Amino acid sequence: MSIAKTHFGKTPDGTPVDLYTLTNADGMVAKIATYGARLTELHVPDKNGRFGNVILGFDNLQQYLQPEPYFGATVGRVANRIASASFTLDGKSYTLAANNGPTTLHGGLKGFDKRVWKAQPVSGSVGSVKFTYLSPHMEEGLPGNLTVAVIYTLTDHNELAIEYFATTDKPTPVNLTNHAYFNLAGAGSTDILGHVLMLAADRYTPVDDTLIPTGELRSVRGTPMDFTCPAPIGSRIAEVKGGYDHNYVLNNTGGALALAARVNEPTTGRIMEIHATQPGLQLYTGNFLDGTLKGNGGVYNQHYAFCLETQHFPDSVHHDSFPSTILRPGQTYRHAARFAFSAQ
Ligand code: BGC
Repeated sequence: MSIAKTHFGKTPDGTPVDLYTLTNADGMVAKIATYGARLTELHVPDKNGRFGNVILGFDNLQQYLQPEPYFGATVGRVANRIASASFTLDGKSYTLAANNGPTTLHGGLKGFDKRVWKAQPVSGSVGSVKFTYLSPHMEEGLPGNLTVAVIYTLTDHNELAIEYFATTDKPTPVNLTNHAYFNLAGAGSTDILGHVLMLAADRYTPVDDTLIPTGELRSVRGTPMDFTCPAPIGSRIAEVKGGYDHNYVLNNTGGALALAARVNEPTTGRIMEIHATQPGLQLYTGNFLDGTLKGNGGVYNQHYAFCLETQHFPDSVHHDSFPSTILRPGQTYRHAARFAFSAQ
């Protein structure tokens, strides 16, 4: 296991950005930048032992500073959408930026994905890097000073673990996730419609035209939303308006790490299994990728990647029946997700 730190560039205000490269005994590589505490590359072997980068991203900071759809980023303070860009907490109203139609998406105008995080290898652990960020009171309109830590760990068993922790000095909503865009055939090589997906979810949260949940938890049974049995992502995508962009209600609600998803790419034999502690999982099939971005491996066309974002349900601040995203002083937000890679 080795950890190397290199210079990745500077933000327009001159802040230096570092890139950490974690390499395990098998040769698996994870690269993580302090800009957005984001995964920029992830190299895993195929069934012939050939390594390939399986996430969309760029090899330079400059492209991350241009508009881009959260490639590999840590997303927060509140991942996914908040309806009407406003909410009420403990009787007080908060108004946020509407950066996606009438809604607030992924933390607002300058979310955690656009912040430069501090980073340090975790002492005593060979394969971990800890990223920290202090989100000040009222940043992007949200109350409380929020102290956030995200620890990336690469193991010698070809697993990438991501752990999240947060504490606050005032009640505030928190919903963190990682926004990696996966393509197990290799980033930029082809679309992901032939990937075979299994989700450990019997229900999902249907949405309105602005992609806000209606509040219903609906059974997937007998619909194109059903991935309880493995099925190619593309087998019924034409029946889903706009493509998949939905939150699934994971079956395991105990809060312990449990299997959330399994994906297998038949041509390379690559398999990814996701275990998570969170109640929800967003399946997003790169519907808004349109070929204008060119990154590692090629041009990123529609459906050239899928995201599986371990999370709380979108717009939880407006749904008392959803698991709460409110973090209060004295509590610690904890979230763990594990991405295990193999090939056969
Ligand atoms: C959302 C999509 C959004 C994408 C990129 C996903 O988490 O569900 O609607 O387009 O992120 O911003």
